[in-house]
Parts: sequence; C-alpha cells; structure tokens
Amino acid sequence: MSALTAKIITVGTELLLGDVVDTNSAYLSAGLAEIGINLFHRETVGDNHDRLLAILGEAIESADIVITSGGLGATSDDITKECVAEALGLPLVLDGHSLEKIKSYYLRRGTEMTDNNIKQAYIPLGAVVFDNDYGTAPVLAVKTKKGAVIMLPGPPRELCPMFDEKIKPWIAENFSDSVILSRTLRLYGIGEAAAEEKIRHLMDSCTNPTVAPYAKTGEVVLRLTARGKDKAECNTLIDGLEEKIREILGKYIYGTDISGLEEALLGLLKEKGLKVAFAESCTGGLAAKRLTDLRGASSVLGMSVVTYSNEAKMKLLGVKKETLDTHGAISPKCALEMAEGLFELSGADICISVTGVAGPDPDEGKEIGTVFIGVKSKKASRAIPLNLSRGSKERSYIRELAVNAIFCEALREQRQF
Ligand code: AMP
Ligand code: MG
Repeated sequence: MSALTAKIITVGTELLLGDVVDTNSAYLSAGLAEIGINLFHRETVGDNHDRLLAILGEAIESADIVITSGGLGATSDDITKECVAEALGLPLVLDGHSLEKIKSYYLRRGTEMTDNNIKQAYIPLGAVVFDNDYGTAPVLAVKTKKGAVIMLPGPPRELCPMFDEKIKPWIAENFSDSVILSRTLRLYGIGEAAAEEKIRHLMDSCTNPTVAPYAKTGEVVLRLTARGKDKAECNTLIDGLEEKIREILGKYIYGTDISGLEEALLGLLKEKGLKVAFAESCTGGLAAKRLTDLRGASSVLGMSVVTYSNEAKMKLLGVKKETLDTHGAISPKCALEMAEGLFELSGADICISVTGVAGPDPDEGKEIGTVFIGVKSKKASRAIPLNLSRGSKERSYIRELAVNAIFCEALREQRQF
C-alpha cells in the first residue's frame, strides 16, 4: 500500500517574525495523518513573491499534495493564489459564484464591501472551489499531475473547520487508499524513561502498528499508530498492541484517548454519580480550574475553596490553631483537617485538600515541592506526603504536578489503576 506524500507551506511574514505561532501546521499535520497521508516536510515563507514561488515550484515537484495556509486575504500582501497560479502556469479568472458569496457575506454582516474584496473571487482556472462558511476567502484546490495544491486561509478559526469539513473528505475521496489511526494511552506514576525501557522491545520490533512515548507534565502518553485499509483494520492492529502494552504497564494506565487526569476523573465521577470538592492552598484554585475547563464539570464539582492564608484555613475549614502553631500549614495534619473541614462544609463525596511549597522560596523551613494532600470521604481519611521538586523548582510546574496528584488521589478513592 503506497501512501501519498504531502507538504505544508505556511505563508506569512508574521510567522517568520514570531509574532504569530504557526498552529496551522500542527493542525494540518495531525489531520493528514488521520487520512493516511505521509507528511515529510513543512515549510514557512514570508509574504514574498519570489520566495513563495520558488518553494511552491519545488513542493509541486516533490510532493503529491501541497497545502498552503495564509495569504488568501484581500490585501496586496496576500499573494498565495497568484503564486500558485503562476507556478502551475494557469491564469486567474473571476469566479461568479465566489463573488456572489462574498457579496452576500458582507450584506449579512451589514458592512461595506470594498473593491479589493473582489480580488478574493479570482481563482486559478479550473480550481475546485469550496465555499468558506467561516470567512470570505474561498478555499481552493487545483489538481496537478501528481495530486493537488490546496489553498487554505490563515486564520485558524477558518482553516481548521474548513480543513476538517471540506478538505479532508475531499482528499480522502480523491487520493487516499489507506487510513492512519492513532490511539493514546495515558500513564500516571511512571516516568518516560522507565516506561520506555519496559516497552523498548515493542518499540523496536513493531512497524505497523507502532508505539511511541511522549512525556507530558508529570505523566506519559503512549501513542499507538496503525495504517490500514480502513478504521476497522487499524483498530484491530492497535488492539493487539494495546493488549501487549497493558500486560506490562497496565497498572499505570488511567485512560485511553482522553486529554488528562481531569477527564478521567470527570468520567468516573459522572458514571458513579459522585461529587468532588477541593480545598486548595498552594495550587490557588488550579484543580478547580482544570476540572471546570471541561464541559459537564458542574455535575461533579459543587464547590471548591481556595484557603491560602492560615486565617482562611481556620475560618472556612475549621483547621485548628494548635495544628498550625505546632505543625505548620504545610503538614499532613493540616492537610487532613482541611479535607475533613471541607467534607463538613461541602457535603461532597470525595474531598481533597492540598497544602505545600510551590516556591520559588522555601516556606516554614520546608523544601520547595513539599506537598501534602488530604483525602476525606465516607471510607477514607488520610494524608499523603509528596515531594514534587523532581529537579525542577519552577512554581507553575510544581503546581501542575500537585494538581495531577489531587486528581490521582480522587481517582484512587474510587478505583485502583
Ligand atoms: P492571512 O490569511 O495570511 O492573511 O492570515 C490571517 C491571519 O491568520 C494572520 O494574521 C494570523 O493571525 C493568522 N495566521 C496565519 N497563518 C497562521 C498559522 N500558520 N498559524 C496560526 N495562525 C495563522
Ligand atoms: Mg498573510
């Protein structure tokens, strides 16, 4: 099965200057992989006629599918379409349909259409026009000897949905004879190097499907990728590999194809009809933030408190003054009392507290990364000591790790992974 090759060219001087981060490339790359197209190169070029023309010429020669992003706007520095037409030796012609679409777009928005907007209705002769439902520049594709040149607009809010809704299906239908499918396994409680060592033989011996580890903040993601004639074939291949991996690393795997620990927790609590609450000190509300970033969090999180000062810990959570005086706020006893107080206050099924030193300076004479997590539920009442410095003294990193640990403890309350 031979797969097509693709090249992405992102166009815009702002990208070269670092003013705008090239997120389109990453988005397009992931999408191409999904439809089984090999991407070997990506390139970025400024709004410069000669350089863009040269890069286009080379790309059209070397790759089957060339995708450009940007430079389809109405202003004079937008020259992608002109350069593609020139590279392919095609004239630009006015497309009546696109002109009508652009006119009605401005009519709907109640804004004046200027003469240079007409520029957007010109297309290379014979180009396939995809109506842009998210902006004015029509998305264009020109078939070439090897495949096609596809032109997408720069703004991600236009490029992403247009690529997903119109271009991916068009490429798959016209050119692709295989699909690539990936599945991610998320691991907690093991480092990347240790995980890699345990599955190195699989990484070395498997070519289809493949497995590759990636380190994320405080966790490891394993990406299993297969190529096949359809999704079903890919899934069967991936199932076999996943089984082998689970035999080795199963106890660390907490989720499949999810965004992180918070999503695992949200799913579990929803399934069990349980509520969680957090009492946060050193994380300043980050646990609640990460959980409520997800849709549907309201069904599992009723309340969360940030008790940063000792006064707040005493007033809101009933932490004893004696505990603070004797053991300090960064202590297992304080963590436990916070969780117990929260249990009373919130009525949630699982209450988790956190107190610790996020840095940059030590606190109460305790090392940066010293963190205690308190857990209180109907069946549990415990404090867990953690050392999260792991060579990094960065405040935000330690806070993220502390929140990971919070979610992990909440998950462990209900199930072992
Ligand atoms: P353009 O279509 O070249 O006029 O681009 C319009 C806007 O889209 C730019 O000003 C950027 O804000 C954004 N943009 C262009 N290219 C990219 C890219 N590769 N990744 C993310 N944003 C982009
Ligand atoms: Mg531009």
